[in-house]
Amino acid sequence: ARYRAGEGWYDARLTSYAPLQMDPATAALHYAQSIFEGLKAYAQPDGSVATFRPEANAARFVRGARRLAMPPVPEEAFLAAVDALVDADRDWVPTGPDQTLYLRPYQLATEPFLGVRPAHEYLFLVIASPAGAYFPRGVHPVSVYLSEDYIRAAPGGTGDVKCAGNYAASLLAQEQAIAAGCDQVVWLDAHEKRYVEEMGGMNLFFVLGTGADAELVTPELTGTLLPGITRDSLITVARERGHRVTERKFSVEEWRAGVADGTVTETFACGTAAVITPVGEVKARTGDFTVGDGTPGPLTMALRGHLLDIQHGRVPDTRGWLHRVA
Ligand code: PMP
Repeated sequence: ARYRAGEGWYDARLTSYAPLQMDPATAALHYAQSIFEGLKAYAQPDGSVATFRPEANAARFVRGARRLAMPPVPEEAFLAAVDALVDADRDWVPTGPDQTLYLRPYQLATEPFLGVRPAHEYLFLVIASPAGAYFPRGVHPVSVYLSEDYIRAAPGGTGDVKCAGNYAASLLAQEQAIAAGCDQVVWLDAHEKRYVEEMGGMNLFFVLGTGADAELVTPELTGTLLPGITRDSLITVARERGHRVTERKFSVEEWRAGVADGTVTETFACGTAAVITPVGEVKARTGDFTVGDGTPGPLTMALRGHLLDIQHGRVPDTRGWLHRVA
């Protein structure tokens, strides 16, 4: 759909995938007035297709639009657009183990002008692509690099919304991580570079203790990290399984000391793409350390299996998280 100031949203339609025509002065290309979402559609055992908590993506998209001074796409319009695309692409929803149809809604300023002000014209689009299983050869821990040179988000910035600029600003740190032999960046707080915030595109959880008494800690939402929908879902699932979950500040020292004395038994990252990724090696200027023994931890794998089972309809959806589309 398109938006023009004074007219509102118009021209909502389903079209085949094709290049966009853009004016060279298109505002989003210069000033990054651009937000996006990521969610998935899952083939269900009864032959239907469902998306997972799309209302949460719609709400986060509205918050992102406000933060970037863009007119929000009404939540019902966002949901209707996603439904229409999944329905049209029904035959592209893979049915293999842990395969999905990835959906990418996004909104960008299309008005052509040079100058810094909110645009008067926007485009809202949803594109889709089949996505294979994230770990086709078995789940294995990733190595992470603590970013000490660069900061992802500062208080009052845009760290708690999914805007394009956040990712542009993170690429150099990701290059550093790869150069240091790591898979992913872990971001720290802007003030003290002491507290863990999140991974490149995933939220983090720390497991304290073992077995039924294991507790989970995840960095609190202070405004500088993305409120992940997977994070929120896992807090609920872990509590239902009887684990205590605390949202609080968690420092690198606490992480390192906890790994050394055995109180921190597992660490994992979570997001729509991989659901849960175990974290193994941690590289930092202040000293490297390794969580666990190189294999994914038991609670990491149990929660991963539990959430995947809900998403793929292998266990009852007791919380109404699945949204039937086709
Ligand atoms: N943090 C960042 C920076 C992300 O890009 C993502 C992916 N959207 C997440 C966390 C995880 O969010 P979600 O669980 O909603 O995919």
